Formats: sequence, C-alpha cells, structure tokens
Amino acid sequence: MKVTDHIKKAKKSLFSLEILPPLKGKGIQSIYDGIDPLIEFGPAFVNVTYHREEFVYKKREKGYLEKISIKKRPGTVGICAAIVNKYKVDAIPHIICGGFTKEETENALIDLNFLGIDNVLLLRGDPIKTEPAFIPEEDGHHYAVDLVKQVVGLNNGEYMDEDLQNATPTNFNIGVAGYPEKHFEAPNMKNDIKYLKQKIDAGAEYIVTQLFYDNQKFKDFVNTCRENGITVPIIPGIKPISTKKQLLALPKFFHIDLPDELVDAIESAPDADTVKQVGIDWAIKQSKDLIDFGVPCIHYYTMGKSLAVREVVKAVFGS
Ligand code: FAD
Repeated sequence: MKVTDHIKKAKKSLFSLEILPPLKGKGIQSIYDGIDPLIEFGPAFVNVTYHREEFVYKKREKGYLEKISIKKRPGTVGICAAIVNKYKVDAIPHIICGGFTKEETENALIDLNFLGIDNVLLLRGDPIKTEPAFIPEEDGHHYAVDLVKQVVGLNNGEYMDEDLQNATPTNFNIGVAGYPEKHFEAPNMKNDIKYLKQKIDAGAEYIVTQLFYDNQKFKDFVNTCRENGITVPIIPGIKPISTKKQLLALPKFFHIDLPDELVDAIESAPDADTVKQVGIDWAIKQSKDLIDFGVPCIHYYTMGKSLAVREVVKAVFGS
C-alpha cells in the first residue's frame, strides 16, 4: 500500500522504520535481527537506505596506489523484496541521483515495479567523501527534483525509449527529504523551502525529515512549509542518541544542533547504560509531543540500534 494511503486510512499517528543494508558479506539474517524486535508493534512501512560507491586506495606492487570503487552496502532492492515477503509490510527503497545514470534509475524502477513495490523515497545523495561537492553522473540527475520528474514520467508511461508505444505506466508513491534545520548547502531556510516546494510541485506526495532533537524546530518547519503552500504530509525523523560520541558525530554528519538540556544530560551520565537511557527517554518525550502536535507518522532511524528504538516504540505505540 502507498505511504499516503496508510496515512489517509490511519485513525492515529503511525510509525515507520529506516534500516541500512548490512555491510557487504553479511547475510539477510542481520536485517531480520534488526526488524524482529520491532515488528510486533506494527510499523506501517520500513525504509531501506541506498549507499552509493566509495573510493578506496589499495597498495599495489612498488608502492603504487590503485583507486578502487566499491559499494559497501549493496542490496537495497533485494532487501525490500525480502522484507515484503517475510513480514508482509511495505518496504520503501531509497533511490538516489548520485552514482546512477537516468537509464540505470529507470531499470531499478522497472525491477521495483515487477516486484510490486509501489513506494520510493527519492533523494539526491551526499557528495562522495573524496569530492568537495555533489557531482552527478554524466547522464544522471543533479537534484532530487529531477528524479521526481523521471518517476512521475514513468507513472505516466513515459520511458526513456521514446519509440515505446503503449508502455505500462508505473504507480509509485513518491516521498522526498526535508530539513527542519535546513539542508547544509542551502544559503538559508527560505531558499531550501523554495526547492522543497519544487519537489512537491513536481509530484512528490509526502516529506520525511532529517533527524532532529528539538521539536520546536520541526514545528516551525511545518508552519513554514504550510505558509509556503506545501500541504503534503510531513513525517518527522527521530533517532535515540545512544553514545556520548554522538554528541559530536550527529551535528557533524547531519548538520543539526542538539538542545542544551540533552547535551548536559548525556555529558553528565556516569556510564554507557545511562547515556542510552537518556537517549531513549528523550526520544519518547519527543515522540509523545509530536503525536500531540498531530504528525501523521514518526519515522525512526534505527541505524543498527533496534533495541533502543524498541524501547521508544514500546512506550509510545505499545498499547
Ligand atoms: P535535493 O532536494 O536535491 O537538495 C540538495 C540541495 O540543493 C539543497 O541544499 C537544496 O536546497 C538545493 N537544491 C535543490 N534543488 C535545487 C535546484 N533546482 N537548484 C539549486 N539548488 C537546489 N542519502 C543517501 O545517500 N542514501 C539514502 O538512502 C539517504 N536517505 C535519506 C533519507 C532521509 C529521510 C533524509 C532526510 C536524507 C537521506 N539521505 C540519503 C541524505 C541526502 O541524500 C542528503 O541530505 C543530500 O545531501 C540531499 O538530498 P536531497 O534529496 O534533500 O537533495
């Protein structure tokens, strides 16, 4: 079922999960081990991220370095199919511009369509670590909005081969990303919202946000979206903090601020278990407040830490 139909049908706030494909070489059981503890609480859907190639340098004879491209976490489409098959829950693949030509994107979408997967979350993807800015493939998309247009085209039966006649239209429900604390490249929030609206005007039907720890920032973001004519459902992204190290890592990686109260509580926690509990309690408090605010769904980033998310989901959606 489409994400927006889940939302329309629901009588109360839903929750969804986001998982990462395992590192190459690990089996599908590691995915199941992450979902099993959460499935009894009834996630509406499970997103599976997409990870583009990375470049590594391998030492060869006489000290030469060989630049090698590797995908460390392949398998998004296969994992989605396995999740649908095992849990009978909708799985949403992330599709990114980075590393894909338009034709490769079209072929991935055809695979998904054949598998009966009718949801996609469309993203640009981050720049490769070794590149200063995002560089699209020669025949790829530069921005997520271009990807949205391609999928909308396919939904209208427009494939890249213009000689195709009476091609079967796909039926993808399209989600895109939003940033309550602004995307890190955007010069300001107004500019970022302008481009977010472009994605919606192009045919995206809902927004999932970057993770955040200050609900007021999310509420302000929703209000700004509404003032700017963005009327689609906005799904907040939540991740319980689980280690002290994340006090530095989360702002660095996700370009977000952490509230003083949370930082103080984590800094003064005497041990790792207390840190975890502070993170869980904060995410429970955030979730309950977001439900009171009327969010359609809460999207939990598991990032391999299902047990912490389980505690949150049990407390918020358990009864
Ligand atoms: P876009 O919407 O294309 O925006 C990128 C930047 O360009 C923004 O600053 C925007 O303001 C600006 N912009 C947009 N359109 C235009 C335009 N036409 N002209 C000029 N400027 C423009 N990354 C992955 O690699 N894999 C994943 O699975 C993944 N999942 C994610 C899930 C969620 C919910 C979120 C929030 C992020 C995820 N990301 C993922 C990270 C995401 O790819 C990065 O944040 C990326 O830098 C931006 O992606 P976007 O789709 O928001 O880009």
